[in-house]
Amino acid sequence: MRLWIKDPIDILGQNSGRGLVVENGCIAELIATGSEPTSPVDQIYDASTHVVTPGLVNTHHHFYQTMTRAHPDAINKELFPWLVSLYPIWAKHITPENFRLATRLALTELMMSGCTTTSDHHYVFPAGLEQALDIQAEEAERVGMRMTLTRGSMNLSEKDGGLPPDQVVQDHDTILVDCERVIKKYHNRSFGSKLQVALAPCSPFSVTPELMRETARLAQQHDCRLHTHLGETKDENQFCLDRFGCRPVDYLEDCGWLSDRTWLAHGIHFTDDEVKKLGHACVGICHCPTSNMILASGHCRTIELEAAGCAVGLGVDGSASNDNSNLIEGVRHALMINRLTYDTAGVTHLDALRWATEGSARCLGRSDIGSIELGKVADLAFFRLDELRFSGAGDPLAALVLCGAHQADRVMIGGEWTVENGQPVAVDVAGLRYEHGKAAKQFLESL
Ligand SMILES: [Zn+2]
Repeated sequence: MRLWIKDPIDILGQNSGRGLVVENGCIAELIATGSEPTSPVDQIYDASTHVVTPGLVNTHHHFYQTMTRAHPDAINKELFPWLVSLYPIWAKHITPENFRLATRLALTELMMSGCTTTSDHHYVFPAGLEQALDIQAEEAERVGMRMTLTRGSMNLSEKDGGLPPDQVVQDHDTILVDCERVIKKYHNRSFGSKLQVALAPCSPFSVTPELMRETARLAQQHDCRLHTHLGETKDENQFCLDRFGCRPVDYLEDCGWLSDRTWLAHGIHFTDDEVKKLGHACVGICHCPTSNMILASGHCRTIELEAAGCAVGLGVDGSASNDNSNLIEGVRHALMINRLTYDTAGVTHLDALRWATEGSARCLGRSDIGSIELGKVADLAFFRLDELRFSGAGDPLAALVLCGAHQADRVMIGGEWTVENGQPVAVDVAGLRYEHGKAAKQFLESL
């Protein structure tokens, strides 16, 4: 079946002014302005009311946090006190049932914002939630999204000088055995894979250096990506200096993590030398503009990091510090926060869109997604410009970012429609809203 996505208003791709042909889930042909497909098509989709972009790629999230949005105990706090308030609430209330709803809601919300691939950094494993990644694999398949399951971990609790309470951490051996289990079960490196696995000790203040080192060894052995939070706050710098006698990037290097296998969430508080070191190693950086603004964490040095050799991608971050899962909104936030650091020519709407697509795909180590190019998988987002906010807009791609697109009208993943007329094909949104909202009420109970 050859499907011609014909005559979009505008498209974020080269030589495709008249659209593209999708065949066997991939982009089989790009149709340049003034051209026609070179061989007959079976079907035409009239995209003349849509702006088409590559499917957006989200490189950092914590799905379970959709249960604690705008939580009264956490609002208006910076990262460390925010975490200390939330850890016990999460520890007490996350169950397999509400974790499943949180996962389904985050995936659906992301997809409705034009996202086709996501990772989720899941690192909270209270007793009873040992199958968290299995639940996520099932839900990703159900919703129809491409996903990097990110097996997080914490093994340094308060009693050992870490930040999290004892009941949310696991021991070193349990973590590594489960990492290997989920890799063997779900890590598929083939072209167009719908599920991959990355390993992700949570942060310097919640895991031991030994776990960092062992995790890096395991990732190399099984050819999977490595992820962690780094350079998010000044408190983290101080923690590393106090505990390890060095700054976070030196700690990372010491643990064997300075490699092109690694992508980091946030990456804010780096010196010039550290930026150079990260770039030299081709470490990826997931810029999380919305979360960085809400938690007052600081400004990511996106342009210097890219110039040094880092891939820069975008992430919405967890839904207790965003507090939504809307990636196209994150593109707008990325443009705006970067304009506080760089001049108008230094960061444009096309840079912000590039981070959310090509840059994010590089962070996840994927060359088969992230751009509209011949041979890549057909992961696409379609936006309409008929809401009031777009009226009067000239440049269609700039309008998505500057006027504030917040919902895709259609989404295609691997050649299949997963969102049509603004609604996900496989999810009852009203039912999900009701069930998730009901489950989330437990998280407001006092401890
Ligand atoms: Zn995070």
